[in-house]
This record gives sequence, C-alpha cells and structure tokens, in this order.
Amino acid sequence: VNYAARLQKKIPQSYIDELLGAIHISDIVKSRINLRENHDNRGISYSANCPFHDDQALSLHIDDNTGTYTCNTCDITGTSIGFIMYFDGIHFIDAVQELSETCGMSLSSVISDHIVNEPQKKHVNLLSNIASYFHVELSNHNHANDYLQDRGISNESIKQFNLGYAPQHRDYFQAVFPNKKTPLIRAGVCGENTDKTTFARFRDRIMFPVYSPEKEIIGFGGRSLVDGGPKYLNSPTSRYFNKSDVLFGLSHYEQSSKDSCSTGFDAIVVEGYMDVVVAHQHGFQYTVSHIQPHHYLETSVQKRLFLFRWGRCRTSGKSTCVRPSITVYWDRL
Ligand SMILES: [Zn+2]
Repeated sequence: VNYAARLQKKIPQSYIDELLGAIHISDIVKSRINLRENHDNRGISYSANCPFHDDQALSLHIDDNTGTYTCNTCDITGTSIGFIMYFDGIHFIDAVQELSETCGMSLSSVISDHIVNEPQKKHVNLLSNIASYFHVELSNHNHANDYLQDRGISNESIKQFNLGYAPQHRDYFQAVFPNKKTPLIRAGVCGENTDKTTFARFRDRIMFPVYSPEKEIIGFGGRSLVDGGPKYLNSPTSRYFNKSDVLFGLSHYEQSSKDSCSTGFDAIVVEGYMDVVVAHQHGFQYTVSHIQPHHYLETSVQKRLFLFRWGRCRTSGKSTCVRPSITVYWDRL
C-alpha cells in the first residue's frame, strides 16, 4: 500500500485528466454490468442496478458529461478509475494501468518503466531464488533423487527444467529467506497461520518451476512424495500467475522450435508436469501440459491440437502413450 501510495503521487494530474477524457465512463461500466439507456431532452443518460448494494431499482446513475457514476443509496460517486477500483477490487495504480491499456495510453510514458515494474521484478527475482534453493535441496535429498530416477528422469532434464525439492520441515523458509514473510506469502510459497506465523505450502515435494513465455518463473507445481494430501499442488492464482493462461513446457517449446507463439503452432498436450519432462527428454519437444485442467480448451481455435493420455498401461504396467483423446483447433495459446 505504501508503494502504491508513493506511485500514485508520481502520476501527473494532467495524465489522469487525459485518461478520464479518453473514454466514456458508460463504456467502462457497460463492459462490467448491464446498463439501461435513458433518452430525455438533455440527451442520453444511463442507469443500472448498483453492483455495490443489493439493488433492483436501477439506483446507479452514469453520466458521460461529468464522467461520473453515482449511487444515492450507497452514497458513493466517482470516476471511471474509482469504478474500476471498487468493481474489480484493485488498487488505484492498477486501475489507472487497466484504464490506460483500455484507452491505448501508456502509463510508462509519464512514469519510468523501472518504477512501474519494480514490484514485478522483485517478485520474479524472489521466485527465481526460491527455485534455485529447491534445486540445490534436490541434490541434498536422496529419496527425492531416487524418485526421479525411478521415473526415468535424466540429470539433463532435471537441469533443463530446473527441477527441485521442497523439504519436509514446516518453516524451512525462515532460515533461508529471513524477513521475507510478506513477499513469500505473495509469491504463493508460504501460508499464514492464525497466530501470524508462516508455514511452507510445499513440503516433501518434487518442485516444477512454471515459466512464462518470457522465461521468467511465475509459479510452482509440486508433486507429493508421500501418500495422503493432494498428489499435485500448484501455486495459488495471483496477478502474475493466471493458471488458465499458462502452459507448462511452453517456455521450453520455444527453445526448440522456430514456430512463433503469435502465429499459433501445433503442440502435444499431456496431462502433467512429469509427462512434459519425460516427453521432452524423448525428443517430443513441443509437448506442453495445462495447469488449470481443460479451461483453455474454450479458447477460440484454429490450429489442430491433439490431446494424448500418457500413462502406465494398467494391465502390462508398461509406460505407454495411449490414443489421441480429443482433437481441437485453435489459433492462440
Ligand atoms: Zn449502491
């Protein structure tokens, strides 16, 4: 919040004014809730059921001339920025950024990229340090190494995918990253107990760093080495880690292919992290897996994509890649 407040002071009022004048507030509200259009002798005005209280009476009034929304029941009024803040539940600075993108304006033209991107850079650096820590811990724990060897994962693959191991202890982060409580919680690797102490979310798990297409670590998946509890655990969704947008292995796909993401490409989609690593290891370097199961299939489709079920045959016990289960078409991942 302090950071957001500092940043807020750095945005010139002239930029805010220009931003608010660049788009009708009715368009901002309309993209979020249903509006009723009213025509009278003063022109067009808009009303809607107020989203901030239980409203059936069209109490929210939107006025493009003044650029404001008003609800007399809630006793609130504000601009497009305020509406985005309260409706989307985000900070001022994020609302300004969101509105800037909608209007095709660039906040970084008035504030240096360094300042705007500072929190994200810190976040990415921390995740990268955490991944390095997990990677070192893997070499310190024989049972984790044995598990990967049993699954046929080579040392090269371990290095290539930066695989790691999260220790069993509930608060191993305390010693490694002291005084980083809030960033660790925000990074999704720690949770907070009711007594305000923290605990490591990933314990006794093989760790798979998840990379963005820009090859920055944005989250983790962890495979449990013991029975009980979820077999796979992912970092929680955050503004940097949108599980439905991310494909595991995509960062490594690009390394081995001249295809471009923006023009679409063919991919083999398998079920989990381990399947991707194994497939890459055996030369199928355009293999990816989803993190939020099946969600992305709703994306508009053009290119052909085969989904395979990859697993162990129940009767023979041999690893096998079984029949393509779905064929879809799409043009963006
Ligand atoms: Zn209201």
